[in-house]
Amino acid sequence: HADIAMYRAKKLGRNNFQFYTPAMNDEAQERVRIESALRSALERDEFVLHYQPQVNLASGQVVGMEALIRWQHPELGVVAPDRFISVAEETGLIVPIGAWVMRTACAQNKAWQDAGLGMLRVAVNLSARQFGATNLLADISDVLAQTGLAPSLLEIELTESLFMSDVTLAVELLHSMKSLGVNLSIDDFGTGYSSLSYLSRFPIDVLKIDRSFVSDITRDANDAAIVASIIALAHNLKLSVIAEGVETAEQLDYLRRHGCDEMQGYYFSRPLAAPAFEELLRQRKSLPLSVTAAHAERV
Ligand code: C2E
Ligand code: MG
Ligand code: MG
Ligand code: MG
Repeated sequence: HADIAMYRAKKLGRNNFQFYTPAMNDEAQERVRIESALRSALERDEFVLHYQPQVNLASGQVVGMEALIRWQHPELGVVAPDRFISVAEETGLIVPIGAWVMRTACAQNKAWQDAGLGMLRVAVNLSARQFGATNLLADISDVLAQTGLAPSLLEIELTESLFMSDVTLAVELLHSMKSLGVNLSIDDFGTGYSSLSYLSRFPIDVLKIDRSFVSDITRDANDAAIVASIIALAHNLKLSVIAEGVETAEQLDYLRRHGCDEMQGYYFSRPLAAPAFEELLRQRKSLPLSVTAAHAERV
């Protein structure tokens, strides 16, 4: 019996192997293709940043923006980050790409300030790979010095995955980042594996409620409860809280009623290329203070 089982396993294994080989090759080749394309994209300056406004719910005013990378591919057109960030992370290319993002976002934000468009925050996403890179702190302080951006206007978005490997090291790094004067936020909060205990140990300023909870708050009582709890948790820990992925007046209304500080989402604006974002600032676009009323008017 053992022999037969072994034989079947081998046979199955070999068949599986043969079956999967072409697909795996395709995937590997695809990655190699993307990797070399990413290298030349950096050289040819094919990346662009889009900016999505972040709005204060009490004032209705734009108070900040998140910088989101896009790849302006000569043949494919605009490529979304979900299609290339993971390859950039695996190959380490995220380090130079991320440095470009940080520099460009800070310089753009400072230019808007200099043009009299307001003292807005700019949030930049940091991947785990960048977090571990040796020159991260020097890079950030160089960018701040070179662009003249006030450190308090730079926010760095981290994900919970950063905190999993080496907690002691992560705490140390976060404190060094904080000592530069920048703000730290946890992106996609609630979707990671981390325990809540890190919230009190890490010098964090902001929680960003993940879009997956926000999208169902008006339909799913559990998601509604989770969102209300995250807002209360953040406030009890003296953190500020922003909801991402807000698409409807009802979602906004719920977030307001539960005291959420800020929102970001298609309901107010999609991420915009720099000229369109600048136009939005010039027009002083703001959020109506009573969404319920605005919604009631429409129906
Ligand atoms: P994220 O940091 O959680 O960014 C929010 C994503 O949600 C963005 O997708 C944004 O366009 C999208 N979004 C915002 N509001 C809404 C809404 O109301 N509805 C829906 N359905 N989506 C909304 P995007 O720009 O495609 O970026 C995806 C992810 O790629 C980001 O998620 C972030 O993890 C990563 N990413 C983007 N830019 C960078 C970057 O410069 N560096 C790194 N390391 N990662 C980046
Ligand atoms: Mg983000
Ligand atoms: Mg997010
Ligand atoms: Mg996300």
